[in-house]
Amino acid sequence: MNIPERICLIAPPFKTAHGWVRVPPDGYGGIQWSMANLMDGLLVLGFRLTLLGAPGSTWPADRVEVPPVAEAEEIAGWLADNRPPLVHDFANFSDFHDHLPHGSAYCRTWQLTSVPPGCANTVYVSRAQLRSMAVPEAPVIPLPVNPNRYRLCPDKEDYLLFLGRISAWKGTYEAAALAEHLGTRLIVAGPSWEPDYKQRIVTDFGGVVTFAGEVADHARAQLIERAMAIAVLSQPVAGPWGQTWCEPGAAVVAEAAACGTPAIATDNGCLPSLIPGIGVLVPTGSRFTRLDTLTVERLPDPAQVRAVAVERWGYVGIASQYLAVYRDCVVGRRWK
Ligand code: UDP
Repeated sequence: MNIPERICLIAPPFKTAHGWVRVPPDGYGGIQWSMANLMDGLLVLGFRLTLLGAPGSTWPADRVEVPPVAEAEEIAGWLADNRPPLVHDFANFSDFHDHLPHGSAYCRTWQLTSVPPGCANTVYVSRAQLRSMAVPEAPVIPLPVNPNRYRLCPDKEDYLLFLGRISAWKGTYEAAALAEHLGTRLIVAGPSWEPDYKQRIVTDFGGVVTFAGEVADHARAQLIERAMAIAVLSQPVAGPWGQTWCEPGAAVVAEAAACGTPAIATDNGCLPSLIPGIGVLVPTGSRFTRLDTLTVERLPDPAQVRAVAVERWGYVGIASQYLAVYRDCVVGRRWK
């Protein structure tokens, strides 16, 4: 059986004060960025796409249909009425797998740290994520990046970048401690939903940290491109869903690498598997030593970093890896 020529993707139906979060997002949104990069790859491979859960997303209308449905019930209704032959679900908080029309093949990409519910052909985004869930075997496909959306910038400026949710498990505090230790600055871009945590950073490291707020478009691109490194110091503390945080996919690592910006990361979750060739590892916690200073001095060269990113996480290659999963779904294979 062949893969159908149109694939239906479901984005997490999230709403902010500005409306439905789109694909790609206008700010914070790792799942939406990973979808956009994969969609770019599927389009290159000649597929047509339907995007649910993200009305208002802008794509070429002749290749990508974006119906105005976002609420979970609307999506379920759309699926029942249109019976798409293949559904690829990124909603993560959904139970769409239990309510599929007869004849719709289904898989989902899981980007959380909790165990996915039911048996629904899950694709995990790192081996570390799969291991942390004690799932014996399932496809593992890392997050893609489309290098055409990211520009190589060989001339770096003297700052570290934190890009993401300002939260304990993402290690913003430790990134500030590292910047202070290295005698550089930290620019923090991203939403803050834990004001006490942010205040602690201001109190302890106010002299080295600048908060840029949530960034998008040109401001986002410039910050990523020009940073000396992106600090991805994820910590093994309680995450948003209760479990000890085990970094599942870390979209920012591939994004930064595509700009030639190396990563300074901890060994949390998927990070040690992403780092070879594109960055260095430092310990968890906020105490750093002379050894860490020396480690950071060995950051790889920007052109090499981008080349590794393209080779390892390039969007067309990752989309091709998904084709094997789609084939399995279409012939009726089932796994957790
Ligand atoms: N991001 C953004 N603007 C911001 C902060 C974050 O565009 O101000 C994006 C960032 O580029 C990445 C995503 O939000 O694509 C965060 O994803 P990641 O997987 O790194 O973190 P998580 O989803 O676990 O919070």
